[in-house]
Amino acid sequence: MSQLDLEQLREKVDAVNLQILSLINERATVIQEIGKIKEKQGVNRYDPLRERHMLNLLKDHNNGPLDQKTVDHIFKEIFKSALDLQEEDQRKALLVSRKKKSEDTVITVNGERIGEGTPSFIFGPCAVESQEQVSKVAEAIGGKGLRLIRGGAYKPRTSPYDFQGLGLEGLKMLKAAAEQYNLAVVTEIVTPSHLEDALPYLDVVQVGARNMQNFELLKAVGQINKPVLLKRGMAATIDEFINAAEYIIASGNDQIILCERGIRTYEKATRNTLDISAVPILKQETHLPVFVDVTHSTGRRDLLLPAAKAAIAIGADGVMAEVHPDPAVALSDAAQQMNLQQFDEYYDSLMKFMKQYELKM
Ligand code: PEP
Ligand code: MN
Repeated sequence: MSQLDLEQLREKVDAVNLQILSLINERATVIQEIGKIKEKQGVNRYDPLRERHMLNLLKDHNNGPLDQKTVDHIFKEIFKSALDLQEEDQRKALLVSRKKKSEDTVITVNGERIGEGTPSFIFGPCAVESQEQVSKVAEAIGGKGLRLIRGGAYKPRTSPYDFQGLGLEGLKMLKAAAEQYNLAVVTEIVTPSHLEDALPYLDVVQVGARNMQNFELLKAVGQINKPVLLKRGMAATIDEFINAAEYIIASGNDQIILCERGIRTYEKATRNTLDISAVPILKQETHLPVFVDVTHSTGRRDLLLPAAKAAIAIGADGVMAEVHPDPAVALSDAAQQMNLQQFDEYYDSLMKFMKQYELKM
């Protein structure tokens, strides 16, 4: 074979490559159209029967020289790439995504503008235990000019024999304390059946880590017109977290605050591993405000301050931490709640940190 023949054949290969490229892109465009129809119909994108049919058709027409195994392999890659494209399109279409809405969502609660660029704070006890207990904490929070208080009345506990919370009575105590010091109530609801009774006594519904994929609860809080603070599940990927938020917005409620609260890893030094990089990822991927719960992520009082500094420095819209008048006798999370004096010092240190680094306050 002469050098000229070789050049000609190479040119032919180049031309065939370009034809293949044009054809697989044409195919991808058609698959995208199919994806849109399937999305409208709510049909699953992956259809193994259809894939089998296409492979059989190729087999019937394969005259070689490529063997069938190779043809199957090449076409399966082509099928997969088109499926990935459909998934990418669907991700772009998520209502919580930045691609869908580029501006930050700002949530106003009791005059506090969450997500507008300055950090907000949610403090309060792990659980409501008595009127006196929540009133003391509310006084300390209100004294700092803060606007939000947290406290669990329905507690999702690991053991059924642990304190389960005071229920609606506890929530009423929290609301009374909050009203006295002009605070809004953030509290966890664990089942849709509690929602109606609890709604008059709360301002922000918390969906806890254990319920991040309780889809019926997500749909239920998606139908109220109060903000929802959605915590990341302890074994949830960021993608699953975002999809959980999508359940809420898809049901009609766009007032969602995401809360990173640590994930379970092999590390034992902390209660969970604070996934700090989740904050900028969530801020990039979604338009929602992002909080960091430093209490449940670290599970350590000595880490509450550095974790909060890290959260603010990396761009979180707020920090949640637990405060109890006497943590030693707390009925839950005794090891990591701050007492009132520690709370004062903590808050002062955070304010100093923000001034020192000229962070927006
Ligand atoms: C809480 O905030 O009270 C709580 C139980 O946290 P998590 O759901 O993150 O464990
Ligand atoms: Mn707690």
